[in-house]
Amino acid sequence: MKVVNTIELTVRQQYILDLVRDNGPITGEQIAESLNLTRATLRPDLAILTMAGFLDARPRVGYFYTGKTGSQLLTEKVKKITVQQYQSIPVVVDDSSSVYDAICTMFLEDVGTLFVVDKHSSLTGVLSRKDLLRASLGKQQLESMPVSIIMTRMPNITMCMKDDLIIEVANTLITKQIDALPVVRKIEKGSGYEVIGRVTKTSMTKVLVDLANDELL
Ligand code: ADP
Repeated sequence: MKVVNTIELTVRQQYILDLVRDNGPITGEQIAESLNLTRATLRPDLAILTMAGFLDARPRVGYFYTGKTGSQLLTEKVKKITVQQYQSIPVVVDDSSSVYDAICTMFLEDVGTLFVVDKHSSLTGVLSRKDLLRASLGKQQLESMPVSIIMTRMPNITMCMKDDLIIEVANTLITKQIDALPVVRKIEKGSGYEVIGRVTKTSMTKVLVDLANDELL
């Protein structure tokens, strides 16, 4: 099992933080003096505290305390993450494909959601695992059944754009009770949307792991 580290402030960093909170604005020189250290020794700690958002620095004034708690800073950080940073490659099938082919694609590509496109590469539908399972329950021939008759179709598809916030997509996945959203862009000439990516519950797990491993939290 891999242990996820949560980075905590060192004793010295905590001391600096308290010092600045009680005495700020205060110069780097004054902080160094109070700790009996050189400015150079202190520089990495001040950089960490500033980059993490605990302290702010103003030229010719010095360091001051931002007053933000660790969880406020975490929230700010999460609210800046965009879809683009976490989208993965979409797997698409043609809307004339058979349900049988779609099932094969789902296994071969190892994804839980397929996006369906027409001959102009415009998004027309979504196929989930359960959509394909449901179709397989009947007595119909899967080889001759087109995916277009079982997919969730436009305009009922929930989509997102690459610049959307990942936290908004996470909310949508929960409220709509779905596993994935296609990342789309508007097709320039003509109507419709081209699928350029995929955001899934796995993407959200990656966000969580990356946040937990961030040394600057
Ligand atoms: P599963 O059916 O495997 O649990 P989902 O929860 O993602 O997977 O899908 C539930 C239903 O919602 C399916 O019928 C599927 O077609 C539909 N669906 C999945 N993703 C979307 C989406 N982005 N927009 C609209 N409908 C979707």
